[in-house]
Amino acid sequence: MPTPLPSVQTLLVRLILVCLLPATLLVGSLLIYKYKIDQTDLEQEALQSARAAIQAVDEQLDQTELIAHTLVTSTPLLRKDLAGFHQQLVKLMLQSNIDLSAALYDFEGQQLLNTVTPFGQPLPRFANLERLQSIFVTGRMPQQTSALRLSDGRLLERTLAPVYDGKKVRYVLAVDVSIDKMKTLLYRLSIPLGAEVSIIDSSGGIVASKRAEDPLFDTKTHPEILESKLTKAEGLLKTTTREGTSLIAAYSTSPSSGWGVVIDIPRKTLEAPLRQTFTLFGLSAALILLLSLTLAWLMGKRISKSVGTLRASAIALGAGTLTNIPATDVRETDEVAQAMEASARLLATQTQELVSANSTLFERTTELAEAQHISKTGNWKWDISTDCLVVSDELRRLYGPKILLPFEEQRGTVYPEAAWQEFKAAAKTALQTKASFTLLLPTLTESGNSIWTRFNADAVCNSEGDVTGLRGTLQDVDNYTKAAMATQESEARLNLAISNSDLALWDWNITNDALYFDERWASIPGYTVEEMPSNKESYVRLIHPEDAAQVEANIESHFKGETRNFEVTYRIQHKAGHYLWMYGSGKVVDRDTAGHPMRMLGVAYDITERKRQEVEIAQLQTELDATLVWQAAQHTVAALAHEINQPLASASILSEAAKRMLVTDGLSDEAKAEKTKRLEQVLENISSDIFRAGDTLKNLFKSLRKPDITQKATPLRRMLDESINTAREEGVFGYKILNANAVDSPLVKVNSLQITKVLLNLLHNAAQAMHEAQITDGKIWVTTSLSADSSEVCISVRDEGPGISAALQEEVFQPLITTKSNGMGMGLTISRALIEANGGKLWHSQENGRGATFHFTLPISS
Ligand code: ADP
Repeated sequence: MPTPLPSVQTLLVRLILVCLLPATLLVGSLLIYKYKIDQTDLEQEALQSARAAIQAVDEQLDQTELIAHTLVTSTPLLRKDLAGFHQQLVKLMLQSNIDLSAALYDFEGQQLLNTVTPFGQPLPRFANLERLQSIFVTGRMPQQTSALRLSDGRLLERTLAPVYDGKKVRYVLAVDVSIDKMKTLLYRLSIPLGAEVSIIDSSGGIVASKRAEDPLFDTKTHPEILESKLTKAEGLLKTTTREGTSLIAAYSTSPSSGWGVVIDIPRKTLEAPLRQTFTLFGLSAALILLLSLTLAWLMGKRISKSVGTLRASAIALGAGTLTNIPATDVRETDEVAQAMEASARLLATQTQELVSANSTLFERTTELAEAQHISKTGNWKWDISTDCLVVSDELRRLYGPKILLPFEEQRGTVYPEAAWQEFKAAAKTALQTKASFTLLLPTLTESGNSIWTRFNADAVCNSEGDVTGLRGTLQDVDNYTKAAMATQESEARLNLAISNSDLALWDWNITNDALYFDERWASIPGYTVEEMPSNKESYVRLIHPEDAAQVEANIESHFKGETRNFEVTYRIQHKAGHYLWMYGSGKVVDRDTAGHPMRMLGVAYDITERKRQEVEIAQLQTELDATLVWQAAQHTVAALAHEINQPLASASILSEAAKRMLVTDGLSDEAKAEKTKRLEQVLENISSDIFRAGDTLKNLFKSLRKPDITQKATPLRRMLDESINTAREEGVFGYKILNANAVDSPLVKVNSLQITKVLLNLLHNAAQAMHEAQITDGKIWVTTSLSADSSEVCISVRDEGPGISAALQEEVFQPLITTKSNGMGMGLTISRALIEANGGKLWHSQENGRGATFHFTLPISS
């Protein structure tokens, strides 16, 4: 859990502590430092005082010693006038302002006189005889003196001096001086308040003390001093009294007398000012701290309150509901409040803008989605680290959920194997080189259909320039690609066709009248591409004067949109001067907005050879027609011979018979009448035979009338319609003729009159066959069909008559084969000749139980 952030109050408290504590510590350290200096000064001062005091003590001791020296050399004493000496002494004691007394001792320690006792009175002996006698022996004054307590309690300082009698010590003079005088010295000393001062003798015993009026003589000074004074004449020591009071003791001793002055400064006294200062300082610091903290706390509270007011307003601002910010107690927060109010106003404006931007964005997003839908385009983004694919709705619609699978799993599901490999390789390169790529790949839609898609991909980089993934678009270009492929294929086929054909290309930029002819075109009239005319005017000069107007007219009518294509047959002049026949065809491929043609493309080919062949064919046709007529004439003559021969032979036989019938001799009348009747019949038959021969001739002449021999590209339908209509008009015994065409009317290159004759003959035969078979509701079917290579059309005429008997099937095309009483038997013979003359074939087919069917083919006009 994260540590909660400190509040303003906490921060201010910390600030106060951070500011005050170092200062407090510094002042404390300074105070301690000053105390140390002060203490040292105090101690040195005490030491100096002790030193001064011991000098004063020494002076007093020296003074006593001087008195003692003076007295031992006094005349009465030298004369052994002890009474006179006593008198002198008493007088001196009275005159002296020093409270002193003197006594004289002999070797035995017997006191011989004493200034406090009248002379001659018995006196006590010297207490310390050994010490006394050492003076008699050494003849010298003892080095160090000690205090002496009298029986009345007074303390004295005693000086012992040897009194010589010659070289021998006769007496020892003791001069006693009251210690009380020394005591007054102590009062003159300046010592720290609370300090104690005492004078000690050479043995360390306290002989005077400022505190005690009546110091205990047996009381020794501090043992540390006793020990220290043996090595050091003066110094400072830490010690403790018997009562346990801690002290600093300054002592100074006299090397001559061994006496010393000790100043005891209780540590309490020393530390008192420091403690006081510290207490004062501590209290002040605590007070300042308390005050500062309280102030900081209150200030923090005020700031917190102000900030709290802002916080509520900020939340309202965040929610977009800020209306009014209450006044705050701090200038800065007040400024922030004003800024927030300004922000709220700005936010309101911006929110408004954002809302409108959002709605615009929504519209644009919808439009984009629609645009993506219409253009079948989607966008995608692939993150390298997560292998995560983000795609737009269009892609999800196209591929379903599988488009979101990791890339590896799209193998075989979205991309066929080869496409997946190709995409993977391109992606790998893009990730390495950061280069974009575009791919055309087959993909599998949600329903599993394979469609062509175009991928555009870019590398995505982070701020350091490292590649983090790919993004791009994917477009369904299936229709376009397939169409393009088909176009490519057809273009390839066209190119192949053009390169394998004799077609020459021309391109005319009408806007700037620039004409271009390809190499093949140029080679037709014997030029190079460069030598060819480069505009229309110079080109028209190449055209035969008789054809130029036609070419211009055809161009004009195509420009006006009257013809779908421009087409013309014309002549151009070869470089060598002769003319060539050209077939030209073209189309306007580009028009401006007003519909004016801008560009025209076309092909042309040399038809000179074909033209020549056409002329040849026309000549041949003429010859063929003549041959046909000759053939027909031959057939006719043969038929005539046969036909006329037959009735004439019949007539001849009948004539012979008639001749014989004329012989009626010996016959009865009845028999004669019978013969005559038969004769009439025979003559009638002869007459009929002769008429038949006449009809045959008439019919033959009719069919030998000069036919129209020209062959023209004629629409088949027109011929069929004309034939059927004529047949109906001429009468087909009321049978229905049904025309069912399996093909659009092609143009057939035939002599239409001849073909119409054939068709009429077939229709009449069909109707007659049904009529003779007394079929009342029969129908005639005329159907057409194309040959497999579309080079010919086949026309079939079927009826519902009895058909052709097996015996006749092979012969019906022979001349003069007929089953009809008035038939000539020439119809099918001539029909076959006419069809063959027009490049086709005529034959018959018979299905069991059905009527007869006659078929003929005609070549289609190319
Ligand atoms: P014609 O019509 O003068 O007899 P054709 O050469 O036209 O001469 O016909 C020869 C014969 O073929 C006919 O007499 C007839 O017997 C037979 N024939 C022709 N067409 C048909 C048909 N549609 N049905 C049956 N027989 C036919």
